[in-house]
Amino acid sequence: MKSTNPTTGETIETYDDHTESEIEERLSNAETAFEAWRERPVAERETKLAAVATLLRERTEEYAELMTREMGKPIAQAEAEVEKCAWVCDHYAEHAGRYLQDEQHASPPGSKVKTIYEPLGPVLAIMPWNFPFWQAFRFIAPYLTAGNVGLLKHASNVPGCALAIEEVFRDAGYPEGTFQSLLIPSDRVDTVLSDSRVKAATLTGSGPAGQAVAATAGENLKKTVLELGGSDPYVVLDDADVEAAATTGAWSRNLNGGQSCIAAKRFVVHDAVYEEFIKRFVAEIESFTVGDPMEQDTDVGPQARQDLMEGIHQQVAESVDAGATVLTGGEPLDCEGAYYPPTVLADVPPGCPVDAEEVFGPVAAVYRVSDEDAAIEKANDTEFGLGASIWTDDLDRGERIAGRIDAGCTYINELVKSDPRVPFGGVKESGYGRELSEAGIKEFVNPKTVWSQ
Ligand code: NDP
Repeated sequence: MKSTNPTTGETIETYDDHTESEIEERLSNAETAFEAWRERPVAERETKLAAVATLLRERTEEYAELMTREMGKPIAQAEAEVEKCAWVCDHYAEHAGRYLQDEQHASPPGSKVKTIYEPLGPVLAIMPWNFPFWQAFRFIAPYLTAGNVGLLKHASNVPGCALAIEEVFRDAGYPEGTFQSLLIPSDRVDTVLSDSRVKAATLTGSGPAGQAVAATAGENLKKTVLELGGSDPYVVLDDADVEAAATTGAWSRNLNGGQSCIAAKRFVVHDAVYEEFIKRFVAEIESFTVGDPMEQDTDVGPQARQDLMEGIHQQVAESVDAGATVLTGGEPLDCEGAYYPPTVLADVPPGCPVDAEEVFGPVAAVYRVSDEDAAIEKANDTEFGLGASIWTDDLDRGERIAGRIDAGCTYINELVKSDPRVPFGGVKESGYGRELSEAGIKEFVNPKTVWSQ
């Protein structure tokens, strides 16, 4: 397993995959750790999580630089990611006990009935490289605090991050085996997931990866949470604040080099404000600083891997061949590193790659629609259903439209974001299950009815 700096193409470090016996040892550690960890009071698990938040904040610079080296995220955004991980730890350190409180039911006379929430055991997480810390912390913070133990199979291009995350839990005083990283390629996930000691799995990544993991989990009757791709619509209506919509939309599409499942990808713009939106949107995008991700003022760095950058260009080139018009960008940058420029495509024909597929890079597809119904129809014209953003001056109108959009979350006059306080997840081919908030911590627990007569 090798981490490669996408800014320079240089190998940072090579890691040996864990051998079968090393994986066996980790599974055995997880099983043993779970028996003790599940018995610890929630308050104690909350205190440990608060210690993780403190360590993350102390090590922000170190972990941010690691992410930027391994996958090219601009350093300021990497620092913000470490802070967000500390925030999710703060959140569950404060609220896990309340979320998992016994639920008392109105009981038939002579009985007392309640639901208690018990952990399941070792949970396997298969995570992607795009937010190498955040994606992992999003599952670790709730699931460990609920009394489960964690096994992380991280993406093969970010092994350094996988080991750093293991380190932070060790240093915060978590018992051995409570959280472990498995350095294995994806073709060894099946074996681990089929092992009877692993009780459930969560995956964030592409549709094919989700289908493979769900199939194995299904054969073994294990619960899964899948957070897959998105092709989020960003709807700008005739009464929108166009300047704010254009500025926020440009960021929503290009944060993290556009490599985000909840990035705005398809911009559906009302005819009445189309020209003004395009002018402002393209100007904002062209103002971004594209360059060395280690520089504080860089807005967009390289793509995480050369092959991914080439895949994005292929999606753009095929879409242009099919009739899309390039308003800005559209060709890989002629320099060292996996750089693709922020790109805007208009006149996007239905069914071309940027219309029908997820584009996991800095490429915006813009559509012109004549009215609200056409905007909703285009917003829903996708296999995905992760997030959606609607821009209007009329919040009642926004909420009414939100009710007609097929998505796991809809933001009005704001970009789609994940936030520890609210459920996060998708419908349709964006997956199922929820992360974060009370919904997230309750995904991998056994809600057990206890009836006393
Ligand atoms: P993948 O979905 O292939 O990788 C995500 C994770 O799943 C990695 O840990 C990967 O391991 C693992 N994985 C892949 N295939 C399998 C499998 N058959 N069984 C078990 N685990 C598997 O993403 P890529 O890195 O290849 O990116 C491809 C596309 O996926 C992107 O362009 C984007 O469209 C989408 N994606 C979506 C993300 C999201 O946040 N929703 C995040 C990342 C990607 P390994 O690295 O070892 O292959």
